[in-house]
Amino acid sequence: MKFPKEINIYCPFCKKHTKHTVELAKKKTRRTMAQGQRRFLRKMLGYGSFPKENPKGREKPTKRVDLRFKCSVCGKKHMHGRGFRAKKLELVKA
Ligand SMILES: [Zn+2]
Repeated sequence: MKFPKEINIYCPFCKKHTKHTVELAKKKTRRTMAQGQRRFLRKMLGYGSFPKENPKGREKPTKRVDLRFKCSVCGKKHMHGRGFRAKKLELVKA
């Protein structure tokens, strides 16, 4: 779907509606040596009933988009809601 590049929404820092530029959040790289990740990888090696295979046949066809809104007044970025599901997102000039 198409989404405007600029949008007038509430800024929690300025505490009023301001113009925001919209951008897609970059995916964070996984920290492979982090303690939680090492624990998870060890668990995934498996012993007993774990890991179980993923349930099949009920994958969702779309992913939730991760949008960030940058305030044009204070320059801070924030999120607005949980986003929405879309197959493909295109940022267009409104
Ligand atoms: Zn602001």
